[in-house]
Amino acid sequence: MRSSLTKVRHGIVLLAVCLLLLLTLFACDSDHNPIQARDANPAVSDHKAMASLMNAPDETYSGVTPAPTVNAARAMQYVKEIVAFGARPIGSANHKKLEQYIVAHLKGDQVEYDSFTADTPEGKFPVRNIIAKYPGTKDGIIVIAGHYDTNYPLRNTGYVGANDGGSSTAILLEIANQLRGKKRDGYSVWLLWTDGEEAVKQWSDNDSLYGTRHLAEKWQNDGTLKKIKAFLLTDMIGDADLNIERDQNSTPWLEDLILQAAVRLGYQSHFFARTIGVADDHLPFARRGVPVADMIDLNYGYGNVFHHTTQDTVDKLSPKSLEIVGNVILETIWMLDKKN
Ligand SMILES: [Zn+2]
Repeated sequence: MRSSLTKVRHGIVLLAVCLLLLLTLFACDSDHNPIQARDANPAVSDHKAMASLMNAPDETYSGVTPAPTVNAARAMQYVKEIVAFGARPIGSANHKKLEQYIVAHLKGDQVEYDSFTADTPEGKFPVRNIIAKYPGTKDGIIVIAGHYDTNYPLRNTGYVGANDGGSSTAILLEIANQLRGKKRDGYSVWLLWTDGEEAVKQWSDNDSLYGTRHLAEKWQNDGTLKKIKAFLLTDMIGDADLNIERDQNSTPWLEDLILQAAVRLGYQSHFFARTIGVADDHLPFARRGVPVADMIDLNYGYGNVFHHTTQDTVDKLSPKSLEIVGNVILETIWMLDKKN
């Protein structure tokens, strides 16, 4: 993935200082008024008060069954196991092992593949998107996506992509655990492990997003695309210092809904402190009119110094960050279910 950020480094440092100040103010404020939107009524322990809260207009999205929550320790364990394979670029033996690892964790689920050969500046490579489908009662599909391949140019440097590739693969596996075997009274949810997200030489429109460019076209041709109500992308969401960006290439109403979900769970301080433009796996779908949102933290280490370096290791990550993003995704799905 690439951002418009790199071109304006000096401006960003200034902006970062301002944001830090702002964030400090925001953090102080939220310390004094925790989770205002959710717990505005102090008598939440009272059953009657709780019932009236559930029926209040601003609680439209609170169904009888609340959204499930992820097991953060298990998600973190997945990251460690995935990283233990080593670098996982397209065409590698480790990539193959990871494909098998993902599918082994989807036993009993409806799993499909979108496999093809990509023509890249480094030659031809097998690319395989993996899709797990959890049917719902409502007409329409919510796609939750994240890439599982790791950076190709760094493949022989000891690079492991704990955050970039590892975190997205792991959180999708944990979300699968929360969807499996449960009746979905809402839209169908499709989990999508995308492949070939990374450039093999240098990021360009033709050297990047191999898997999603292929899949978006395929889904347009077979009619799937128009059934997709929302496409939520996760990328680099494990950073212990979690700051999800507001992305200019994402759909504003969907990002607003994500923020609403974050507020409901008390996680809003981790969301949308700054706005940047991100090129990522959501673009091929955005270009075809699908509502998209990229949940990404592009400030991985001060000034994003760990991104695409051998410093992208498990010790920089936190289960809490996986929990925040996982739970906000599940809450967003539940809110979309209640939406018209
Ligand atoms: Zn990357």
